[in-house]
Amino acid sequence: VEAAVSAGIDLSGFDSKVPAEERILWARGRGLSVGAVYTRYSTPRQRSTRDQVRACVEFAAAKKVFVPPEFICIDEGKSGRKSRRKGLQRMLAILREQALDVFLTFMLSRLFRKAHQCYRFVDEEVVERGIRAICVADNIDTNDKGGWKLLVSIKGAMDEAQVETTAEQVRNAQVGLFHEGFVTGALPVGFRRRIVPEARLTNRGLPRAVPEVDPDAAKLIRQHMEWIAEGMPIIEGWRRWVAANGPCDPRATGGRMALESYRRLISNEKLIGIWKFGQKRSTWSSKRDYTRQIPQPEASIKVARYEHLRIVDDELFFRVQERLRQGTRGRHKVRRKEGRPVVVWDLVTDIYHCPDCQHRFQQRGEDGQSMACANDECKRRGMVRRREAFRAVAAKLEELLSHDQELLDQCAKSAIARDGKGDEECRAQIAEEQRQIEKLGRKIDLLVEIASENTAGNREEEKAKIRLAKQERAGHQMRLAQLMACEQADRKVLTVEEVRAVLAEFRSLLERTGSGEAGPEVVYKAAEAFRALTDGRIMVHFDPRLGRKRTVARGVFVPALLKTVQQKLGLRPAMDGLTASSVEVWLRKPPQLDAMAEQVRQMYEVEKLGFREIGDRLGCGSGNACLAYRRAYEMRGLPLPERRTNLGRPRKAG
Ligand SMILES: [Zn+2]
Repeated sequence: VEAAVSAGIDLSGFDSKVPAEERILWARGRGLSVGAVYTRYSTPRQRSTRDQVRACVEFAAAKKVFVPPEFICIDEGKSGRKSRRKGLQRMLAILREQALDVFLTFMLSRLFRKAHQCYRFVDEEVVERGIRAICVADNIDTNDKGGWKLLVSIKGAMDEAQVETTAEQVRNAQVGLFHEGFVTGALPVGFRRRIVPEARLTNRGLPRAVPEVDPDAAKLIRQHMEWIAEGMPIIEGWRRWVAANGPCDPRATGGRMALESYRRLISNEKLIGIWKFGQKRSTWSSKRDYTRQIPQPEASIKVARYEHLRIVDDELFFRVQERLRQGTRGRHKVRRKEGRPVVVWDLVTDIYHCPDCQHRFQQRGEDGQSMACANDECKRRGMVRRREAFRAVAAKLEELLSHDQELLDQCAKSAIARDGKGDEECRAQIAEEQRQIEKLGRKIDLLVEIASENTAGNREEEKAKIRLAKQERAGHQMRLAQLMACEQADRKVLTVEEVRAVLAEFRSLLERTGSGEAGPEVVYKAAEAFRALTDGRIMVHFDPRLGRKRTVARGVFVPALLKTVQQKLGLRPAMDGLTASSVEVWLRKPPQLDAMAEQVRQMYEVEKLGFREIGDRLGCGSGNACLAYRRAYEMRGLPLPERRTNLGRPRKAG
């Protein structure tokens, strides 16, 4: 109304309360044109929505154009890069559906960032429909028949160039800030901002900040990294993080960390003090009409190392990366009733293997309490109870671990071996790992370059390739960190107590979890120890018992005690061929007779005892002793030898 008055328009009969159609009719009756206004406002520096609208409406009134408030479309906080803007969508609908005479906007750059898009919009959406377009501040009016096309093109190109220069300036300024150690973006969990009062203020007049380690979050992260490295599944770690109300990104939905963010958290290089800038760069895709985040080649990424921002050591970090790389190892098949606590034999089913078809075992039977070969076509079928099998193998391991003198000797030997040729070998391995890491770095660069050049096609596939190469490199980085740690540890002298403590820890882990009552921290740790000590593979043989229906189950594995202990102590595994021989255990308790058969045979044939004597010693009676002796041959499929003449105790009188 104010603008109309100052433009000398007669407002008699105008009623702002009636519907838009009636007001438009009134305007047409007065010989006025009808117009629409579009404004966009994205940063505080640009002229705000109010200013833009006022300028447009005043300009319209001066040109005898009536703009009903219903025809004003506004985008706020929207970047000009995105064409999916609600206000713009509404504007398009009005242009298409309403009888308009004039379209007004404050500046051409309000429409789009790119010149060709501005031109296309004005030409196709406005002028083609017979509507006049006016850009108030740019002095563009399509009623100016010849000149407007050129003006729109030039103006648009100039705006575009300015936007790009500004973007480059912003980026350069950020690189500078990054090198000075200032915060240039959102900080990940584990870090917080520390204000530097003496630094110059930001463009928005806010104080600058540097990142620092958040001690509480860092403590929690270290705990979780330990858990994951020791064998806790990622999903369980994440559940605990959420349950403990662990910190999360303030932008996270629902105020809790997502599983994917948890994964990102524990694989973030910032945890070991590596900060990168410019890993991705926004690039405008004209064809697709939006910006894409293009990963940049490693050479152009700015890297800084800040020891004071380290949260975990390299060795632990890369051990966790290795776990992430290995994935779930088929453990996702674990079926567990809701609320039932996790027990150690739930976590090691995949260690058992079928000797016939080499398939691993899977939960079977009632409630998944047993396990069998996962191959449905396998001829050699049989089932063992998982709990029984675990206990049998664990008992054997405990027994082996208590023969510690031998292990002590071996560990001492490998500790000594490091002084001489060990050092050279270690350095050679370090060089080899470094070579592999560099090689993979070049491969990643190449993949990134290919991905950034591909404007169409399947980007998921390329992303997967890059991820895979990065994971492979993480494996080498872990081994490098371990080797470096070994080289450092060379000067350390290993004590007998240290080895004993490790052996005792393994024994107690197996003992405590065998009962099924240990807490989850111990369970995951024990499962990892079990896996390591059995070298991750137990062959399960089902042997038929001659003349019996049920089979017996035998577990055969090569214990890797020395390797496991060495690893635990941070020693480089001995390279000389210390191949342990395989051991056998009954995975299913054999029938009494079978169990004592071998012992009875020994007593009878080697110790030359009589069955009565044997029966007394074993407390089973002479009849059973005799049967057990026969069974010893039956089990091996051998004929019973000639009965020897009685050398035993004479019959009792009477
Ligand atoms: Zn099989």
